[in-house]
Amino acid sequence: MAKSDRISDMAEPMFRTPKGTHDVLPEDHQYMTYIKKAVRHRCRQAGYRRIDPPIFENRAIFERGIGQHTDIVSKELFLVSGKHTEGEDQEKSMQLALRPEFTAGICRSYVEHGMQQLPQPVELYAIGQCFRYDRPQKGRYRQFHQVDLEVIGLKDPSLDAQLIHVCMNIFKDLQIADRLTLQLNNIGSSDNRKAFVVALKDFFIGKERHLPEIDLRRLEGNPLRLLDSKEADTQILLKSAPTLDQFIDEESKVYHATLIEYLQELEIPFTSNVGLVRGLDYYGQTVFEFWDGSSGAQNAVGGGGRYDGLIELFGGAPTPGVGAAFGIERMIWHMKQAGVKAPNKDQVDVFVAQLGPDAKKMCLRLISALRESGVHTIGALGEASLKSQMRLADKFGARFTLLLGQMEVKEGKIILRDMAAGKQKTVAFDKAVPEVLELLGAKDLDTYSLTDQLGNVVDSGE
Ligand code: AMP
Repeated sequence: MAKSDRISDMAEPMFRTPKGTHDVLPEDHQYMTYIKKAVRHRCRQAGYRRIDPPIFENRAIFERGIGQHTDIVSKELFLVSGKHTEGEDQEKSMQLALRPEFTAGICRSYVEHGMQQLPQPVELYAIGQCFRYDRPQKGRYRQFHQVDLEVIGLKDPSLDAQLIHVCMNIFKDLQIADRLTLQLNNIGSSDNRKAFVVALKDFFIGKERHLPEIDLRRLEGNPLRLLDSKEADTQILLKSAPTLDQFIDEESKVYHATLIEYLQELEIPFTSNVGLVRGLDYYGQTVFEFWDGSSGAQNAVGGGGRYDGLIELFGGAPTPGVGAAFGIERMIWHMKQAGVKAPNKDQVDVFVAQLGPDAKKMCLRLISALRESGVHTIGALGEASLKSQMRLADKFGARFTLLLGQMEVKEGKIILRDMAAGKQKTVAFDKAVPEVLELLGAKDLDTYSLTDQLGNVVDSGE
């Protein structure tokens, strides 16, 4: 069916994706696969191993870890109601929530599986969907994909620097590093922040009526969030308010200065941003974000920081950790903006057209032999005429077509057509596979195999 026919025939779909979600269509999967490859490659180089925590967890993991008063928990947690049964079961399942990010689940897993027994630090990475029940807008979805990196069990500024370096290398591989700026801050210890919050609250006594409603609520629940408020009135008031950096202790200052030395050693440019706090409770000391160079924080591609108290919150021994997460949809957006084309391996190399039951049967073996040899092959699709099969081959963008009519079956031959050149020749049926292989050349063959060495399973490209 021609594209124009399809559009005019298209009725209003009966169902659409739920608000804030989208299908990852094959065109975008090219980007996604490419991003995952870059992540896997850089993570493996740096000793990270992959982990997949469940998509939903006990909601207390997020409430406790990320914080009751954060936007992510107070407004955006996607609760799972589970089974439709009366009574206790349903009540239990009501305690579940879809993961809004990975860090809390990974720390739960670290404790649950006794990973403190492993050589430290434990470096883990995850790739997958996250969910936030936010108002959907450009670059902000209810279901999106994150890449997440965590380094748990040791504390040293060189670990923070190396983590940021791995992220930067991923952005470089994807050719979007130049579009991003690394924003860096140190938000001190939790005592430092407590003292600052007391001072900040004192400062706002009597000034409440000048604060917009949203920031008034932040002042009560999560005062640190005032610092990255987008409200103009709040920003004006903050100019004369105490600043967090006045409350940072000596240890944090030394830690930060050392981190900066290491970043300079690794030639990673950054912007010091004393207003950067990140929205999650578990962060302490190092925090960072990768901002869009043009639009700033609004469309940050990623961020992260140190969370030295989180594992303890989940019942583990005091264990330091540092992590980073970035959004795949936003990376894809940047790649497209930068004109980066993700390599596409979905091309059809050969279309096999046939006529008649004998030919069709023989084609099944031929198609299989071509595929086994690494040739992307489709064909033997129906009972259409040879002419319409040729048209279909053209629409699929096949480089070559193999045609097997009744006459060719009798003669043990097959027609091989070069679609771009519009030229064809007849070859012996038995020689069809080697002929195609020679024409395609070894570099285009998809000879990927699940077991490259005895018992050694290669990852699946997911
Ligand atoms: P956060 O930890 O909230 O800073 O999230 C890390 C990254 O995940 C962000 O910088 C975005 O790239 C991505 N992200 C977070 N929330 C969303 C969302 N609702 N839709 C799309 N991407 C998101």
